[in-house]
Amino acid sequence: MSISTVKESDAPALSLIAAHSHISGLGLDENLQPREVAQGMVGQLNARKAAGIILKMVQQGSIAGRAVLIAGPPSTGKTALAMGLSNSLGKDVPFTVLSASEIYSLELSKTEALIQAFRKSIGVRIKEETEIIEGEVVEIQIDRSLTGGHKQGKLTIKTTDMETIYELGNKMIDSLSKEKVIAGDIISIDKASGKITRLGRSYTRARDYDAMGPDVKFIQCPEGELQKKSDVVHTVSLHDIDVINSRSQGFLALFSGDTGEIRQEVRDQINIKVAEWKEEGKAEIIPGVLFIDEIHMLDIECFSFLNKALEDDFSPIVMMATNRGISQTRGTNYKTPHGLPADLLDRSIIISTSNYNANEMKTILGIRAKEEEVELSNDSLALLTKIAEETSLRYAANLISVSNQIAIKRRATTVEIQDIKKSYTLFLDARRSVQFLEQFSDQYID
Ligand code: ATP
Repeated sequence: MSISTVKESDAPALSLIAAHSHISGLGLDENLQPREVAQGMVGQLNARKAAGIILKMVQQGSIAGRAVLIAGPPSTGKTALAMGLSNSLGKDVPFTVLSASEIYSLELSKTEALIQAFRKSIGVRIKEETEIIEGEVVEIQIDRSLTGGHKQGKLTIKTTDMETIYELGNKMIDSLSKEKVIAGDIISIDKASGKITRLGRSYTRARDYDAMGPDVKFIQCPEGELQKKSDVVHTVSLHDIDVINSRSQGFLALFSGDTGEIRQEVRDQINIKVAEWKEEGKAEIIPGVLFIDEIHMLDIECFSFLNKALEDDFSPIVMMATNRGISQTRGTNYKTPHGLPADLLDRSIIISTSNYNANEMKTILGIRAKEEEVELSNDSLALLTKIAEETSLRYAANLISVSNQIAIKRRATTVEIQDIKKSYTLFLDARRSVQFLEQFSDQYID
């Protein structure tokens, strides 16, 4: 059983996010209006607009106790939308993907599986005071586009010397904006990329920015100078802390993913501890996004759990997805919209997604090919689009890497029509697979 929290370092989750790695946000402008194509997102404008409003509600803390239900046909970007929302909230905001049928596992009880998924979706940002290590940053970028100011620009310098970095850093901000870095300004330096971002004028505002990755340090400038003192911020999930502190499991379980059941006393203690850290200003709780796909597969017991869990202080943003209309609520004899019980439907904000047109599919497939670093000829992209229309977007997207392998085999650097055709005949889509099964049904075991 695997409930996957999406972090770059998390190997087991890679297969689940790989298909969405091109999505870095919801692609909205400052007024939360969707741009046709932005941040890897294409079309689906109404749903993205609605997700933008939810984003605002989350940022204002007014979503508590509610869930979001994304309803729409298969491959219309329900997961993509949830991922876009999560990314818009910040790089270190946890995003957990759970397919509802996964919770019927023999290893964990249903509620334990759900509790773990909930706790994986709550981040604890732990602040630690340290000095920046000298000589590690080789490149600095000052990106004014993130500052919310009017001037935009990018400048890159290369140095390994911290003193020079601070000096040049100040000068560059100076020369770009014609303003000095002044008392109260907050600058972040991302140690991995060496990127400096001027975030704003107070710590609270700084929180709003995406730039806060796990490696980002915040520097409060006293008198026009950058200071060395900084806060290193780590983000872990509540579940990570549970596992590390669970005597029966130990931290190695974090790597195997086989955490087993965790005792409630452990969780109660962790909750108290984390609340203390929060009180002392050492930690911040960040509700992440828990995405539950095929929500209609949950049963009435799970739905009652969800209802209760949504009321909890530590609840993540729960986004559910379904492609069902009126269907039976599992564990009951009645039919309801999307198979959800009335009380959960009542507290859900519903977003609907609709099928893409050929142009949108083409753009998405083009973005996917770029993301996978696959060169597609114009004809092959057109053929893939046709296939997407006839089968599904996901199937067509999967053909990109397969076709690329076929092209590589014939030593070509560009995927041509022949490669797509070959992969289409080698790998069946769902409809052809069913036809195949029916044709040879007498040879299969019933
Ligand atoms: P299902 O109901 O089958 O779970 P879904 O509605 O969750 O499907 P996704 O898995 O999000 O659909 O979409 C299929 C593929 O198309 C993914 O690779 C996804 O990232 C991509 N995709 C879908 N919609 C968009 C979009 N609007 N912009 C960019 N990429 C998209």
